[in-house]
This record gives sequence, structure tokens and C-alpha cells, in this order.
Amino acid sequence: MQGIKTVNFKNKRVIVRADFNVPLDDSLKITDISRLTAALPTINFVLGKGGAIILISHLGRPAKKDSLLSLKPIAKKLSQLINRPIEFFNDCVGSEALQKAKNLHPGEIILLENLRFYKDEILGGVDFAQKLSNMADIYINDAFGSSHRAHASTYTITQFFKNHKYGGFLLEKEVSSLDSILVSPKNPFVAVIGGAKISSKIDVLFSLIQHVDKIIIGGGMAYTFIKAQGGSVGKSLVEEEKLSAAKNIIKKAQEQNIPLILPVDSVNSLEFNDTSPTCISDVFNIPENYMGLDIGPKTISLFNQHIISSKTILWNGPMGVFELLNFSNGTRLICESVCAGTQNGARSLVGGGDSVAALKKFDSSDKVSYISTGGGAMLEYLKGKDLPALKALL
Ligand code: AMP
Repeated sequence: MQGIKTVNFKNKRVIVRADFNVPLDDSLKITDISRLTAALPTINFVLGKGGAIILISHLGRPAKKDSLLSLKPIAKKLSQLINRPIEFFNDCVGSEALQKAKNLHPGEIILLENLRFYKDEILGGVDFAQKLSNMADIYINDAFGSSHRAHASTYTITQFFKNHKYGGFLLEKEVSSLDSILVSPKNPFVAVIGGAKISSKIDVLFSLIQHVDKIIIGGGMAYTFIKAQGGSVGKSLVEEEKLSAAKNIIKKAQEQNIPLILPVDSVNSLEFNDTSPTCISDVFNIPENYMGLDIGPKTISLFNQHIISSKTILWNGPMGVFELLNFSNGTRLICESVCAGTQNGARSLVGGGDSVAALKKFDSSDKVSYISTGGGAMLEYLKGKDLPALKALL
């Protein structure tokens, strides 16, 4: 992938695919601006070099036009952040959009409407991609969080910029951070994987066994592993169809001599809320009517020992339902362990929407080495897969 440092942007129109898929509250207020600030270095660089920018992005997963998922609030916020006007245009293709783009002067910037208002975006439509490409002389992809998708704006569009397609600063930084831990990690290297859905993380677990010294598994997905080993997990989340995959991971880790560290105790609740009765039990003996919603105190201490003695720490996925106060302890204390390990000199890399939200919730964002803006993309990269949007930049 070619970076943008030496590109001549003077008097060029540059289409920048950013990842402005930010969380919004009910009143459409942006609740976390990290993805906006992460895009600034590339935007400021291009403008500073005399280019004009056409910004494109998706937001959410609309199947069609949906005013609740308009990028308009992003234009306003971004404009405050870069301290210059950003014009918002309420479409991303069409003759008017093209005209707007063509009329841009050096130093000007326009944000187009949500790409996913058109189904051709996720279908990778060639016509749609060509229409986007007609607006600019140069294409920059700075949307690491979307680079595991072969969409029109991340993949198809590159065929129209054969010699003028580049990776932005954020994309480069994300890739080099992941490479640095995959290619030359300091050992011991621990991966801490949590969250609810084992199905989305099975492949990455198989792949991580090749790279790390130990794997810690917490969160809802741990209960499938416990059940696979004959444990009684009550009403805890279990993906029945993944029981054999869980057994295979346990077997593979044993064969490769990689410790797979699972919870030993569990904080359980009768219902999925903050008000029902709770109990702490051995993770293999959760009472029948209870569901495990967090790791227990013995597990926290066990995980902590492994994390703080590591030199490279990769964390993806919460240890429990951290959104509920009663079940946030595990994630909060593991977050503290990751920060303490980092302070001890470990390199820590955190990715995935929920782990990043947890870092923020526990005021720890500045205490880890690197926060990835892409959860799914980070996992795909760690799986060793060629991400389509990165490949398309070659
Ligand atoms: P994922 O999208 O797979 O990374 O899962 C993130 C979600 O997992 C968060 O919203 C957590 O609340 C949820 N989660 C974590 N632990 C559990 C658990 N023990 N049971 C159910 N959900 C969980």
C-alpha cells in the first residue's frame, strides 16, 4: 500500500473514504468522536498541500434512506474540529453531487451523505463506484474499520484510480500497529478475548494460537467453552452449534502447548437486568435458573496475574455485561490490569467497539498503547486474512 506523504495534492480533488460510523444518542448527538479525530491527520494534510476534499463514509446499517442516519451532524462536528467550514451535501452520487465536487477549490471540503443509503454500496456496485470516482482525481482510503468489506467505496472504486489510490495516515497506523504485534511481539504475548458471540471469534481464536503465548477467554463466549468441557452453566449464553468448535480450540491449544485460560467462577443473575437476585458460583456449577453475566473474583485475580506479567497484550471484547452496573466489575478490573501491564512496559492494543467503550467508561483510554478504530477489521487482520480494501490498494 502506498501512503500519502509524497503525493502531490496541489489543485487536486481528493475523495477520502473515512470511517465516520460513530455512535449517536437518541437526539442524534455524537457520543464518541474518536473516529472523527482519527481522520483529522489525513484531512489536514491534504488540505495543507493544496487539495480539495470530498469526504465519504457510511453510518450504521440503513437499508435505504433514513434521516436518523444522515451524516449531517458529522459535518457540523468535524467542521468544529478542523476549524473550517465543511459543506454537507444530501446525496453521495448524482449530477448535483458531481457538480458540487467539480466546483471545489483548493482547501475546500465537502461531506457527502451516507453511502449506505444506496444498496449498491454494500453490493460493491461498479456503476455506483464509478459515479463516486468521477468526482475526484485521487482516492484515499482511511477507513480501517471498513477495510474487511469489499464495498463500492472501499474496494470497487479503486479500479478507477489505478495509479492514484493511497492509504491514509490512519489506515497506515492501524496496519503497522497490528503488524508490530503479529510480526515481532515482545513475549509473553497474551490475547484477552471476550464478548458475547463466539461464532464471530472462532476463526480468530484458531489463528491467535499461532501467534500468542496464552489466550484468556472471558465474557459470554466463555460459557460455551465451559459447557463443552461438561460444565453446568444454567441459563448462561451458549452457542450449542459451536460446542464442537470450542472443543477443537481447547484441543489445538493443548497440542500447541498454549495455555487457554478460562474463568473459574462466575457472577450470575436470575434475569438479564440490574435488579434481580445475583450469586457467585464455580463456573462449572452455575445454578440451573441463573445466567452467568460476569467473571467472578477468583477469575479476575487469575486473569490479572497473566495480564500483568505479559509484555504484549491484545484485548478484544468485554468480560461481562459491563453496561449493567452489577456485572461491570470483571471488565473494569481487567481494563485496570491491561493499563497496569502497559504501565509496567507492556505494549497493549485494544480493539472492538465494546472494549473501546469500556476503556472510555473506565477513563482508561490514555493508559493503553494503541486503540484500534476497527473491531471486525482488526479481528479479520489478526486471522491472517487479506482484507479486501487493503488488497485493492496494492
Ligand atoms: P461482542 O459483540 O461479541 O463483542 O459482544 C459484546 C457484548 O457482549 C456486550 O454488549 C456485553 O454486554 C455482552 N456480554 C459480555 N458478557 C456477557 C455474558 N456473560 N452474557 C451475555 N452477554 C455478555
